[in-house]
This record gives sequence, C-alpha cells and structure tokens, in this order.
Amino acid sequence: SAIDWDAFAKSLTPIETIQEPSQIEKLSKDYYHFSPVLQTQLQDKVANLVVRPRSEAEVVQVARACVQAKVPLTIRGAGTGNYGQCIPLAGGVVLDLTKLNAVAWVKPGLACVQAGAKLAAIDRVTRESGWELRMYPSTYRTATIGGFIGGGSGGIGSITFGQLRDRGNLQAVRVVTLEDQPRILELRGDNVQQVNHAYGTNGIITSLEIPLGPAYPWSEVIVSFEQFMQAARFGQALGDADGIVKKLISVHAWPIPSYFTALAPYLPENKAAALLMVADSCVEPLTALVQAWGGTITYTKAAQDAAKGTPLMEFTWNHTTLHARSSDPTFTYLQTLFPYDPDLALVEQCYRHFGDEVMMHLEFLRTEGRVMPAALQLVRYSTAARLNQIIQYHEDQGAFIANPHTYILEDGGRKTIDTAQVAFKTKVDPYGLLNPGKMRGWLERSGAEASP
Ligand code: FAD
Repeated sequence: SAIDWDAFAKSLTPIETIQEPSQIEKLSKDYYHFSPVLQTQLQDKVANLVVRPRSEAEVVQVARACVQAKVPLTIRGAGTGNYGQCIPLAGGVVLDLTKLNAVAWVKPGLACVQAGAKLAAIDRVTRESGWELRMYPSTYRTATIGGFIGGGSGGIGSITFGQLRDRGNLQAVRVVTLEDQPRILELRGDNVQQVNHAYGTNGIITSLEIPLGPAYPWSEVIVSFEQFMQAARFGQALGDADGIVKKLISVHAWPIPSYFTALAPYLPENKAAALLMVADSCVEPLTALVQAWGGTITYTKAAQDAAKGTPLMEFTWNHTTLHARSSDPTFTYLQTLFPYDPDLALVEQCYRHFGDEVMMHLEFLRTEGRVMPAALQLVRYSTAARLNQIIQYHEDQGAFIANPHTYILEDGGRKTIDTAQVAFKTKVDPYGLLNPGKMRGWLERSGAEASP
C-alpha cells in the first residue's frame, strides 16, 4: 500500500504500536482453522500494523488517524473467534483492545466494564458482591467481553438466560465512530442491537453495561448413560426442571468422550456422557433426577475445589471441538439449533442417519422461554461438497444451521441482512473502513459482491 507504516506508527505516539512481523501475523489470526473451508481462504491475510490503546481517548486518536489516511481498521479482543471475525481481509490496522480492561463499577445485577476486560477477570471482581456474568463462552479464561458481544453467541449460562442476542442481555454500550471527526456514542435499550454481534463492522465498542446473575457456588458433575438418546432426554428433563439451578447441560455421544483424555477415569468406554454445572445445593435433587433416567454419576467436584484441575466447562461448547481436533485434526464441526420438541425426534433422526460421520454433541439452552438443544456436532471432514450436503440435510429437515464455515456475518447465524446494522454503519463508518469484507449488507449496498 501507499502508506508509510513507520510514519503512521510514529504519528500515534505515545500509543503502543507493534511492527514486528511475527507479532503482527499472530495478532492477525483467530481460531478460523477449526474450519477447513476458512483455512484456505484466510491463511494469508495479515495486518500492516497492530495498535494497542490504553484508554478511550487513545481509541479516538487511532480512529481519527485511520479515517484521515483511509486505512482499514479491524478490532481484536483475544482473537478466539472461530470464523475469522477479527482477521483483516484488507490489511491495515489491527486494534488490539486487551489493555482497555477496567471494571468501572458493579451494582446488583449490572456491571460497567471496558471492552478488553477478560470474562474471568470481570467475574473475579463482581463475585465479591455476589454477582457474576450471566453467560460466557468456554474460552472464558481468555476471551474479552467486547469480543464476546462482537462475535460470540452464548454458552455456559445460556440454559438459564438465553443467548446474547436476547433482549436484556446487553444493557448499554459506548461506541467510537470512524467519521471525519470521530464521536463517542452511547447506545441503550434496543439501540444496542445495532452493534450487537456485528463483528466490529460498525463501531468500536469501548465500554459496556453488562447484566449479571446471582453467583452460586457451582458443582461440576459427570453422568454416564448406556445410550445416547437416554442422555439426551435426561438433558432435556434437567433443562425443564425449573427447581434445579444450573449453568451447563452438555451431552456427548460416544466416541466424543474418548477425546477428553484428562477425564478418562470418569468416562466409561462406549457410553454417552452428560457434563453438568449445577448449584452445590442442587446436587441432591439432581441425583434423584439422574436415578430416574437410569444414569450413573461418575464425577462430582464441589465449588470449593474449583481451582483443582481443568474446569469441566473447558470440555464443552466449542472446547469439545478443540479436544477432538487435537486427537484428529481432520475433524470439523457444525452449529445447529434443533426445533422445539421435548421428544427430540429430529435429534434422534440425525443421530441415526449420519452415524459416525457426524457425532452428536448437544448443548441445551433456553430461548424464548423454552428449553431446546443446540448442537455442535463433530464432523469427519472429507470435502466441502459433502459438508454442504450434510448442512442441507439438516436444513431440509427443519434444523437451523449457523454455518461456521463462512466469515460473512449474514451467512453465518443471521441468514438475513440486518438493515438496522447496515444503516448504522452508513452513519458511523461512511468510508467502510471497519473490518471490510465481512458485512454482506454493506458490500451489496456499495455495489460490490461478497466473495465466498
Ligand atoms: P475476538 O475473536 O477478538 O473478536 C470477535 C469479533 O468481535 C471480531 O469480529 C472483532 O472484530 C469483534 N470485536 C472484538 N472486540 C470488539 C469491540 N470492542 N467492539 C466491536 N467489535 C469487537 N463462542 C461462544 O459464543 N460460545 C462458546 O461457548 C464458545 N466456545 C469457544 C471455544 C473455543 C475452543 C474457541 C476457539 C472459541 C469459542 N467461541 C465461543 C468463540 C469465541 O471464543 C468467543 O465468542 C469469544 O467470546 C470471543 O472473544 P474474543 O475476545 O476472543 O473476540
């Protein structure tokens, strides 16, 4: 490009900048390699410069410099996204927000935090007054709150509170714009949806008001079942058991448990497993429910022992895929929402239809008042065409697939162009500098084609 990057970096003094090529390369990547499709599309994408501001004022200064020089700017939290969300397609600046990480205040049920704060670090502060994040991804220990809102969907806690997109799970945001004179906007109420899950394409979130739930001491429990469908129906029953306080219901068909090597003593051969988090005080009623469904509790760890060993949640959600891929890197995965059906008929049909090619992994969540299974099935990958066939089968049968094999925002979980998000981008990013190439609604508006 025509930009003199040394001079550009110098012009940002005293803000920290990184120009060392291997560092830039590292900070230009995320976990896109979970998808063999994205792997080939994104492996050579890299920024020209990484900038690491420490305050909102510094963010505004970087925004102004990028607008003046018409340089693309891609926001990065911890870079743990799975769809190349934070990979810069057109080079330019990667804005690393991990140093913008203060917890400003905590009130009952609500915290105000800076975007680069790590999820686990937020909880350490809020738990002092009996509160914690309502939900978090299994990358809890590394991911940032800004990245979770920008590119995530839900996770541990979604069985009680739904997903990030549900009204009430994000209270307010402060956003820096990429106008000629960058502004700081505050969005509240439904207006937060303009930037919620937008891959940082329409504003730099600098701080957020994030709702909290009561911090229970959580027990971790593993239950073993002879049959997968027995485990799945138990998962639904536990989800529906309103008197049992819970945070995680993760159900796995064999051979998935065989990839959890650290848990091997608790995962008998050829059996399905349910990995759970329930309030310590609810282990007794849980035990009765397990008996009713013919399961066997093989492992219990009370909250006071939480510091010992790897947390159980780091085998669930997309960590399941991580563990499977470390044993066989040809594995990839799907993200599916099955239609509401307490009998799980379509889950059973898909489980039997694909056999060992698509291994069933369910994560129960509550959405619009009803408990249903999301699935992150493990797929033995052969070709892109076969992968699309598998996706098509699910869609034909009425399951919703949030395709994890695309970096285009709308082609993943949304399927439709969010006109409010596009309209907001028109206002706050008139030159289209924020994470270019990711938002189909913007690309089509400006006459270009979204490439894949
Ligand atoms: P990044 O990857 O850095 O960014 C994500 C997106 O948000 C990018 O588009 C980025 O540009 C944008 N962004 C970042 N910060 C801001 C900001 N301040 N303002 C505007 N836009 C911003 N996700 C889930 O939802 N649930 C899970 O259970 C889950 N499990 C995972 C397990 C594994 C093993 C892996 C690798 C990933 C998993 N993920 C999961 C995906 C990801 O880890 C989470 O969504 C995480 O919260 C992303 O945070 P991050 O800080 O790493 O974001």
